[in-house]
Amino acid sequence: MKHACKRVSQLTSESFDRKLSLTETLQLKWHFAMCGLCRNYHQSLKTMSNVFGHIREHDLKENIQLPDEARQHIQSVLEKEK
Ligand SMILES: [Zn+2]
Repeated sequence: MKHACKRVSQLTSESFDRKLSLTETLQLKWHFAMCGLCRNYHQSLKTMSNVFGHIREHDLKENIQLPDEARQHIQSVLEKEK
């Protein structure tokens, strides 16, 4: 992995935990414009966080009924993502 890509993938995952500065955001956008790998990486993280964020909010926290099996499966997936 190129040095720039390493930095970008780090920023990408940090962007879900904190708000990036303007400089960092521009760095990401500039890099995504040139590098398809990092763009795809960012896209898949975003999709995943949408899906899991939704599940977390609606099914786990609010305790809407799910079959035990499904709940366990989701929890084990969430554990792995940490
Ligand atoms: Zn890259």
